[in-house]
Amino acid sequence: MSEIKKVAVIGGGTMGNGIAHVFAMNGYDVKLIETAQEFVDRAMNTIDKNLSRMVAKEKISEAEKEATLDRIQPHLTIPGAVLDADLIVEAVPESYELKKKIFTEVDLHAPEHAIIASNTSSISITKLAAVTKRPEKVIGMHFFNPVPVMKLVEVIDGLETEKQVTESIMQTSEKLGKVPVSANDSPGFVSNRVLMPMINEAIFCVYEGVADPEAVDNVMKMGMAHPMGPLRLADFIGLDVCLDILNVLYDGFKDPKYRPCPLLVKMVDAGKLGDKTGEGFFTY
Ligand code: NAD
Repeated sequence: MSEIKKVAVIGGGTMGNGIAHVFAMNGYDVKLIETAQEFVDRAMNTIDKNLSRMVAKEKISEAEKEATLDRIQPHLTIPGAVLDADLIVEAVPESYELKKKIFTEVDLHAPEHAIIASNTSSISITKLAAVTKRPEKVIGMHFFNPVPVMKLVEVIDGLETEKQVTESIMQTSEKLGKVPVSANDSPGFVSNRVLMPMINEAIFCVYEGVADPEAVDNVMKMGMAHPMGPLRLADFIGLDVCLDILNVLYDGFKDPKYRPCPLLVKMVDAGKLGDKTGEGFFTY
């Protein structure tokens, strides 16, 4: 398997700009693809701001910051950006239809040897791989928010992912200073399969009047040494995102243990989505 040197990141939102940031900081040539100039500018400004913070904390020098920014080349279309890529990391919104369209286009234009990875939180890697002519080179590369800070990369094999591809992505993740963990494709992978039922159960505690949100979070923070309570974390992730992932687990396993709590459904219906709307289980 040839060494990965050139990377294309598709989507420069919350996750994509962080992914471009860590690849560029670790010496990779990065092409960052967005749909409009304003989104490219927003992504580059965020990366600039986050790198400046690292300079202020003396984690990197001003020269390293400038070199990192120089290694990121913005693009507005996929074909030219993936033409010489060794690895493509897709980080567009969590919609199967959108990702399917992007995987089809990338497959058409990327070189034969290129690996196509998705940062999806819950969509089946096997299903995304199936829309390409290279399912053996499709893999999940699941980063965590904020990407420059969080150590974990969940590396998810689709049904047909080649062993060398997994090894290459595990090694690449280590080169980014991350800790890769390998998992097989399954609804919610490991991270959300373990996390979301805990969040859901915390919501059930509030729904059934067992305790109020603050008490539930205090139990998990003080008693279990969680840095953040499950309801505070749910607000941070977005209650709509939590509901979507629980539905993926519920539909994927057809098991009632993943049934989203009716209170979660009601809060999403009411537009109380957590931090991003200013109100969820707590007020911001
Ligand atoms: P986001 O909405 O912040 O960013 C998505 C970006 O993709 C936007 O900037 C949008 O303009 C861009 N985009 C949309 N269509 C595009 C296209 N055709 N070509 C190029 N760019 C396009 O979303 P996000 O939170 O960064 O999530 C991205 C992916 O990462 C999702 O699959 C999500 O499930 C996953 N994820 C998110 C988190 C998180 O905490 N936010 C954590 C892990 C994984």
